[in-house]
Amino acid sequence: MGILGGTFDPVHIGHLRAAIEMRDALDLAEVRLVPAHVPPHRAQPAAGAEHRLALLRLAVRGVPGLAVDDRELGRAGPSYTVDTLTALRAELGARSLCLLVGDDAFRGLPTWHRWQALFDLAHVVVMRRPLPPGGTDTLPAELTRFLRGREAHGVAALAGSPAGLVWQQAIPPLDVSATRIRALLRAGHGARFLMTDSCLRYIRDHHLYTD
Ligand code: ATP
Repeated sequence: MGILGGTFDPVHIGHLRAAIEMRDALDLAEVRLVPAHVPPHRAQPAAGAEHRLALLRLAVRGVPGLAVDDRELGRAGPSYTVDTLTALRAELGARSLCLLVGDDAFRGLPTWHRWQALFDLAHVVVMRRPLPPGGTDTLPAELTRFLRGREAHGVAALAGSPAGLVWQQAIPPLDVSATRIRALLRAGHGARFLMTDSCLRYIRDHHLYTD
């Protein structure tokens, strides 16, 4: 199983294609999109949790192997990824679990709560997009040190053990972000072809992402 966390404010084709690319490249039976509860002291999503969740459910409807997991929204406070993975691990037993993270998020991994424990619970799979001009793919030294000896030698290794490996998976880039979509909608331009028509209808019907 694969887990893709995010704010999903709103979910768009970048998320959906990434989930599908990972499903197919890693031969995952299921990729779960896990919307995050955003702590009160952080910048709040433009849409409420119930709307972000409804949009996700619409987006994955009928897509084989894609599902939505709302456990982080069900809890009263914010969740740490390590807590979410602990709960999933209890359900999965010794089955393989892959935490899917964007390369930008991966570089910041050492700032995550109990980040080293993540590897006791899941494999970490980095979704690699080509570097933007002038971009850097240098990892923090402590992350590089920690990863030594944990590199998977192929995708098959991920399925063959429950947790503990790191794997970099290249995905074709789609230059779309929720930030840009919110800006388009706010400006009244619409976001057709950047997200599913079902989501666009929901956004229109609920008057989301307009000021
Ligand atoms: P925002 O623009 O509001 O920061 P976002 O579009 O980056 O949002 P998130 O909810 O922060 O979306 O992303 C959740 C996950 O999806 C992250 O791991 C992120 O790296 C990944 N992701 C976001 N956009 C893309 C994309 N275009 N292609 C591949 N992965 C993406």
